[in-house]
Amino acid sequence: MKTFVSSLFSLSLMASISYGASAPTLDLVWPPHGHHYGALRSSFIFGSVQPPSARVTVNGQPLPVYKTGAFLAVVPLSPGAFSFRLQATSEGGQAELTRDVVVDPSAEPSPWRAGEFDPVNYLRKGPRRVCRMKDDLVTVTTGPDKDLGYQAFLPKGVLSAVTGSWGKFLRLGFGNQWVGWVSREVVTLLPEGTPVPHSVLGSLTVTTAAGSTLISIPLEAQQPFRVEQVLDPVRFKLFLYGVTADMDKVNYGSDVSCVKDIRWKQLDDSLCELDITTNQRSGWGYDVRYEGTQMIFEIRHAPPLHRSLGRPLAGLVVALDAGHSSADPGATGPLRTHEDAINLLVARQLEAKLKSMGAGVVMVRKEDEVLDLLRRTRIAWSARAHLFISLHENSIADSGNPLEDSGFSIYYWAPQSRPLAEAVHAAYQANIPFKDRGISYDNLAVCRMTQMPSILTESAFLIVPEQEAMLLDPAFRDRIAGTIAQGIQQYLKKAVP
Ligand SMILES: [Zn+2]
Repeated sequence: MKTFVSSLFSLSLMASISYGASAPTLDLVWPPHGHHYGALRSSFIFGSVQPPSARVTVNGQPLPVYKTGAFLAVVPLSPGAFSFRLQATSEGGQAELTRDVVVDPSAEPSPWRAGEFDPVNYLRKGPRRVCRMKDDLVTVTTGPDKDLGYQAFLPKGVLSAVTGSWGKFLRLGFGNQWVGWVSREVVTLLPEGTPVPHSVLGSLTVTTAAGSTLISIPLEAQQPFRVEQVLDPVRFKLFLYGVTADMDKVNYGSDVSCVKDIRWKQLDDSLCELDITTNQRSGWGYDVRYEGTQMIFEIRHAPPLHRSLGRPLAGLVVALDAGHSSADPGATGPLRTHEDAINLLVARQLEAKLKSMGAGVVMVRKEDEVLDLLRRTRIAWSARAHLFISLHENSIADSGNPLEDSGFSIYYWAPQSRPLAEAVHAAYQANIPFKDRGISYDNLAVCRMTQMPSILTESAFLIVPEQEAMLLDPAFRDRIAGTIAQGIQQYLKKAVP
């Protein structure tokens, strides 16, 4: 809010025109002051006016106002310094507001996208070094840019050869066909002359623990690895970098109900592939970790359901992740409704619903605690939840048009999560009256968790006035909760017949 008519002027209007009506108030939520737009010809603004009966214009064009007073409009932009001038008129008077922003004259791609990055020049320069993962879980990206796709998450302690660098990034040498990049600050460079780690793999042991099958893979160092999962039946390809196979024994133990077969292949001098076939119809999650230099590959079993009449989810444990927190509130609606608060309300209603159906529920965020994304997945895994559902409400990038493109969408990453995403998506199609933006594979950090099927739901667009009003209504939030619960139930009917 910037400019208002003076109170003296309002008083004189009250005296002369109306019976106590006061001047309207304008609140422009988006864009913030000084916002920097890319090279766009138009973008959206949103905010609210009170009273909702006020007439509002932006840069001279009338702007529709929803019954709550919220508004959302797409406005043409011009390059350089640009201002949104809003004017509201009611019988009580007038209000004005100006918001100054900057619009890029032309698109400016990041230096490496602009072609300045030449991988050939950065390979095998200088002495070969070795690094150790320093963070709890290091994100390996597909190129020297944090915004690029995630290649892998490597646990603390894993060693890797470094085969190049670019700016603040190091190129990790995993094998001949696979590259990954990490930022320098998440690894420790070991002294020059440290040998590149190499292990010989001799034998495997399969054992059964509560709710899981464990494959013990003895190595000589914490070698880098990558997992590919295939479904129907569930099968894993475990790529071990810097490993030579000398396999002479696989002990399957006494319980062979989960792992059907393990084959191995030496793909090149330093890349060994383990091909693990299971008897599972649905994937219930997997975890790869080191205990010393022994790798443990854990395959989770189906949840021990003990359904009964009225309790169709008994035996299931669901982790509910109310997205964001006040430190990172996510989307904000035209009435300044914060996404973190709505997500928590939906989570609590869904918690009650799932419990009434017999499920156990782990609330990842209980109040307003600040949790980073990795911590959220760790909470779910340490509670041994069977499913992870992250609850969000959407907004859209400056280049999008929320008047045309708003609604619900479901996200997943691992193949094992796709059937859950499909069942929940079908329930949204049946129950939620918004545009269907579909199912997406997405590199979202919480969905990348492999220890259980994991999805993220965007139920509605908080920045759209009508959808914001519905999200503020407990009855509609209950409908979202019922929809997700129905999706889970349908998923289980297929996954655990
Ligand atoms: Zn969000």
